[in-house]
Amino acid sequence: MKRRTFISALCGCVAAGCGWKRASAALDEATLRAETTTAKDGATQVAEWKRFEFSEKKMGVPARIVMYAPDAATANAAATAVWKRFDELNAALSDYDSESEIVRVCRESAQNGAPVAISDDLRRTLEESRRFCVLTGGAFDATVSPVVKLWRRSRYFNERPPEKILDAAKKTVGLDGWKLTDAGVETAPGVRFDVGGIAKGFALDEALETLKTFGIKSALVDAGGDLRLGDAPPGKDGWTIGIAGLVKDGEPAFYRTLANVGIASSGDANRYLELDGVRYSHIIDPRTGEPLTRRCVATVVAADATAADALASAVCVLGLDETPKLLERLKNVDAKEAGVPGRFETLETILYRVKNDAEPPFTAEKIDVFATPGFADVAKTR
Ligand code: AMP
Ligand code: MG
Repeated sequence: MKRRTFISALCGCVAAGCGWKRASAALDEATLRAETTTAKDGATQVAEWKRFEFSEKKMGVPARIVMYAPDAATANAAATAVWKRFDELNAALSDYDSESEIVRVCRESAQNGAPVAISDDLRRTLEESRRFCVLTGGAFDATVSPVVKLWRRSRYFNERPPEKILDAAKKTVGLDGWKLTDAGVETAPGVRFDVGGIAKGFALDEALETLKTFGIKSALVDAGGDLRLGDAPPGKDGWTIGIAGLVKDGEPAFYRTLANVGIASSGDANRYLELDGVRYSHIIDPRTGEPLTRRCVATVVAADATAADALASAVCVLGLDETPKLLERLKNVDAKEAGVPGRFETLETILYRVKNDAEPPFTAEKIDVFATPGFADVAKTR
């Protein structure tokens, strides 16, 4: 990793989540011999499970699958199925595509004032979006779309959105403007969804499920640096994920060995607007409708990638003061609220935030860090 600018440095600090130079799975052997016992006669067979890796550009980001499979034919078929699944999800959930299901549904609901039938993928994504909006006290909110769009336009024209238009957009943000029923989704006028803060995680979880249908459980799937890990590589404790430091150039600052989790990062590293010395992030605080102006990057490890993705966006919004409260709250939610039993039992977070007025280079003293125990030791030393 080069630290030419703050952007690359900050991105690099969570290399596992930013698609920067990573060491993901770098320490795995190319081929591993796994011993299996045949049920018939109890004799020991030696089965060879090989490591396969595939890359494609999907959902607008570089995507990668690393898997252990018995043979190339199985691996190829499984990878093809994952790419197809990503394409399906992109067609349903992308807000960059005016013909995607999610964009069309909002348009039709506004026109008809009636519920619009939706696919199972969109329903599940919206259910999860609603769940994480409630769980994060509105820090994650998929209805932030109209505000996001205005700021995207601002990045292009290099000016703040006109206040009147911005105020109108802010009024459409929130849980009250839409509902899901058996008939579909119903939206109030002006409500638009942007599931960009959760959909990659959702797609990664779906990718792992797809691989399982081919008998592949030991796998890592990467979408733009957000990861979903399945079982550890055969004979290993986990996948070795490299997480680079904020202040040091070069190799990742530390490694975590993890399995069966989702890992996602959010931050204002790449997309922002600088106006009159204020740096506006692409992440919006839905509670105010304003972009974050403090530079931050958060990485979340959760039981699944959907949760990690939504929570990483929320943690950036909540910052150092409110994030510990969120984590405390999540520990106590019941299975129904969580959507999946035990979903937040192993939640981990690291959040870097640059102190007020601090200028590059961003040495350790210029950065505040909040870290849960799994990250705390490394956070102290970087
Ligand atoms: P992520 O990289 O997962 O944090 O997703 C960022 C994207 O999610 C942004 O580009 C917006 O499209 C959208 N977004 C921005 N702020 C929020 C928010 N507070 N809650 C949900 N989605 C958001
Ligand atoms: Mg996210």
